[in-house]
Amino acid sequence: MKNFGLHIWGDENFVIQNDTININHAQKPSLLQITKEIREKGYKGPLLLRFPHLIKKQISTLFDTFDKAKKEFDYQGDFKAVFPLKVNQFPNFIHALMDVSKTYNYGLEAGSKAELIIAMSKTPLGAPITVNGFKDKEMIGLCFIAAKMGHNITVTIEGLTELETIIQVNKEFNDTLENPVSPKIGVRIRLHSAGIGIWAKSGGYSSKFGLTSTELLEAYEMLKKHTLLDKFWMIHFHIGSQMADIAPLKKALREAGNIYAELKNRGAEALGAINIGGGLAVEYSQHEGKQERNYSLNEFANDVVYLMQEISKRKGVAEPDIFTESGRYIAASHAVLIAPVLELFSQEYHEKGLRLKKVNPPLIEELHDLYTSLSREHAREYLHDALDHMESLLTLFDLGYIDLEDRSNTEILVNLIIKKSIALLHNEGTDELKKLQDRIQEKYLLNFSTFQSLPDFWGLKQHFPIVPLDKLDSEPTNPASIWDITCDSDGEIGFDRELPLYLHDIDVSKEEYFLAFFLTGAYQEVLGMQHNLFTHPTEAMVHFKEDGSYHIDGLIEAQNLLDVLDDLDYDTNLMDKTLKYQIEESTLISKEEKRELLGKLYLFLSENSYLKTANPLELSRGFESSAE
Ligand SMILES: *Cc1c(COP(=O)(O)O)cnc(C)c1O
Repeated sequence: MKNFGLHIWGDENFVIQNDTININHAQKPSLLQITKEIREKGYKGPLLLRFPHLIKKQISTLFDTFDKAKKEFDYQGDFKAVFPLKVNQFPNFIHALMDVSKTYNYGLEAGSKAELIIAMSKTPLGAPITVNGFKDKEMIGLCFIAAKMGHNITVTIEGLTELETIIQVNKEFNDTLENPVSPKIGVRIRLHSAGIGIWAKSGGYSSKFGLTSTELLEAYEMLKKHTLLDKFWMIHFHIGSQMADIAPLKKALREAGNIYAELKNRGAEALGAINIGGGLAVEYSQHEGKQERNYSLNEFANDVVYLMQEISKRKGVAEPDIFTESGRYIAASHAVLIAPVLELFSQEYHEKGLRLKKVNPPLIEELHDLYTSLSREHAREYLHDALDHMESLLTLFDLGYIDLEDRSNTEILVNLIIKKSIALLHNEGTDELKKLQDRIQEKYLLNFSTFQSLPDFWGLKQHFPIVPLDKLDSEPTNPASIWDITCDSDGEIGFDRELPLYLHDIDVSKEEYFLAFFLTGAYQEVLGMQHNLFTHPTEAMVHFKEDGSYHIDGLIEAQNLLDVLDDLDYDTNLMDKTLKYQIEESTLISKEEKRELLGKLYLFLSENSYLKTANPLELSRGFESSAE
């Protein structure tokens, strides 16, 4: 997989040129060039790069595709969309999102009070805001305030108690007014059908959210009784994230469409929108035959429009506006995480580790011959001989006939033979070769935390495409597993025979090597955990100018040590003072040295937890460079 599956997951956003992976836009700068530019400013840990042009691409593709579908079917309803804030609430992202979506009247979806505050302050008046999830009286009050401000806001009722609260708040806000203003009302329905996959718990009968048919009828009566029926305008469902298969969506659309038509015919005249939630899947797969979704956006849009039209025609009601709340689809591609490789751990199996003697045991001589004369033609035969010799040599060691050096030579030679054979027989991929790869896998230590930056890998084994930033003109031959710098054995992306990752053999004391993790813009950032107190990585925005060149802004450095401790409510002033006091009062340190140590301490405390100088290249430069 020399192109690391780019043709499967890349969506033409990136391109491999010569030996680097580049942004397929404007002057096509390489990710390596951008990474180096930022590192030169002194930011040495992991980096999260954001690309606003990719947010724009997703939004315009979504709107254009639905527009096309509407035209094709001559559909009468509108298409509208909101971004669900839970997918990414980081300000650099949200500001870029609102900026690039201006012409689409794109809005925000909120699921908590804090998210609602973001939605109320960032959505332009008139663009839709939807509010889902469990709500108390205060949160519903906030929705009324938003409506009074002039926001186009819809509160989704998730249960009958919530509706009772809305009725009560409506009284409190509007009873004495001549021109009552309240938010629009949506109802989330509990579907019979559910999605499939690891995120499919949001739909179906046992789902956390939504009203059953019986509750729906009751809600209808309540709305009517309290003269709120004219506010009831949306039916909402969400069958779960990362829908792998389109079939459950079609079932859900039929169910929801019929509920819409039934309620409308019963007298819910204001009803005019179906909100199909999110769930549009992202293709994360790097491997042929392991694709994660079985439909295209075109098919998705056509199905939604066609089914809504069909049901509306059959039941004689107006075609509803269609809302989506897709978040993963909009946000995933905009962020790329880049982490430097600090070390390779199986270096002991290199040729330079051999300690061959003047006279070696005959089997070791033979192993050495096998290694030096290995060719593609004989690879399989020699490989079997080598494995056989190894068994014999290990037995000889147990019986005391060969010494520790011989044993070490055996391990190195067999390892080298396996590696070389696999490289020679690369395209055969037999089970035997696959199994042997586990044995020779190289462990790459990366300056990042999986808990912080890829929590869905840690929690759900969701894979993200991994590509080195350069050397892409040569075949990577090391079956690779990745270790992060947390002190937790779960902080590892192990070599997976079914989804193998190969990386280049490099010497980190001589050259830098970076890995990029793609499609990390949805969910990963806010779900990230500060395990071991590793924080959100340093982030930066990459914008493209009219002339095709790029510029970097929005740089936010990873939190420094004292700020992280402050977040945990430590008294960091006291900590700072204690540390200084311990140096100042020490009877073991000279006055000169004290001044120097205090200076160093001051610098360290202003830095973040990620490693700065594990690379020997940088070690030689030492302190000075860390002062930048
Ligand atoms: C999470 C969520 C979404 C977003 O789902 P994606 O899979 O990210 O598109 C949309 N609507 C609701 C109600 C949600 O809970």
